[in-house]
Amino acid sequence: MRVSDGDATTDLPLQSWLPVSPESDFPIQNLPFGSFSTPDAGPRIGIAIGDRILDLHNAAGAGFFDDCCDRALLRAPLLNPFLAAGPDVWTLVRRRISNLLRIDGDARLREGNADRFLIKRDDAALRVPMEIGDYVDFYSSIEHATNLGRLFRPEAEPLLPNWKWLPVGYHGRSATIVIDGTPIRRPRGQRKPPGAAEPEFGPTRRLDIELEMGFVVGPGNELGRPVPIHGAENHIFGFVLVNDWSARDIQAWEYQPLGPFLGKSFATTISPWIVTLEALEPFRVAAKPQDPPPLEYLKTDGSSYAVDLAVDLQTEDMRERGMPPQRISQTSFRDIYWTAAQQLAHATVNGAATRPGDLYASGTISGSAPGSQGSLIELTWNGERPIKLPDGETRTFLEDGDEVTLHGWCEKPGARRIGFGAARGRIEAA
Ligand code: CA
Repeated sequence: MRVSDGDATTDLPLQSWLPVSPESDFPIQNLPFGSFSTPDAGPRIGIAIGDRILDLHNAAGAGFFDDCCDRALLRAPLLNPFLAAGPDVWTLVRRRISNLLRIDGDARLREGNADRFLIKRDDAALRVPMEIGDYVDFYSSIEHATNLGRLFRPEAEPLLPNWKWLPVGYHGRSATIVIDGTPIRRPRGQRKPPGAAEPEFGPTRRLDIELEMGFVVGPGNELGRPVPIHGAENHIFGFVLVNDWSARDIQAWEYQPLGPFLGKSFATTISPWIVTLEALEPFRVAAKPQDPPPLEYLKTDGSSYAVDLAVDLQTEDMRERGMPPQRISQTSFRDIYWTAAQQLAHATVNGAATRPGDLYASGTISGSAPGSQGSLIELTWNGERPIKLPDGETRTFLEDGDEVTLHGWCEKPGARRIGFGAARGRIEAA
């Protein structure tokens, strides 16, 4: 297990000298990594703490990390060089950051010109924090796969025969991964309405969300050398929230036989802060038992993370009337059937290479209780049961002006709550 505490040996509870509100997603226990720019400075990497960002470019320039790693790793505009450095360096740097920020730690930051290093988050523009070479999307929630099987193949077994033997996935489009807050233009494409003889072309009428989590690859592996299941987590830096926007009518017409394509590739939104495995460690839980037991290369004691997840929806009308967003789904990542370690072992078992910054998304995360599904197609049962909103509107799929926000957080007795921030997107007309 990696160390997640500060450098100092102390019995005091971990607390920052920087005031952090109790509701903040970013207490000193979290310290997630991101990339940002300000009006006077180009992209650089930083750490979220309360409503501030610790500017790692400046902090490394001041020599705070000279005994941890090469300064250049922390003075790059994006995280890729740091991701490539691997877990020993991640741990050293995170411990030092914790120590610089904790109340009883290294006083150099606190007693120096702290404002030079601590940027107000409201003054910064957040960016996708790494260059994403490859993006893979899995299909790892058994509840989601079962629901979609029931919707699309009502006469057959809901799970296809391969589902419990391997984490089903496909390669997505990294070029259209966008950061929280980026507007989402309604895509156009071919769709074939039920009963129509021929397809037609136009804006999607069934624009949906997919509530997912994604992990960011660290060092990665060379071509021909799979990542073994044991030790796979050494290649995983941390997690973000992922909204895999989906045009269901385009998807339904195009997906056979090669799988998702233009119905998915128009946009994928991620949250800006990568929450590290170290920060998630207190929330590690045993993974869901797998039956049948997987093949040897996927066999592991298996752990997941107890991350609570929620989806909020606010329509244009609600916004104009000053109504807050409505929570339309609440679920958890903890029961995901195929774990991140299994996904990475499977994705590389044929010798495929991965690179620092690659993103692997879980697939839509759904629970079994009503209101715990991670997509509108499940929540409304393919449009049969519209969602009622507080202003009297209803929704089956998204309308122009709708804004969807994903949230993720971890909490349990005896541990400080940590969060992922948000992954938000507002729909613009085609
Ligand atoms: Ca997906």
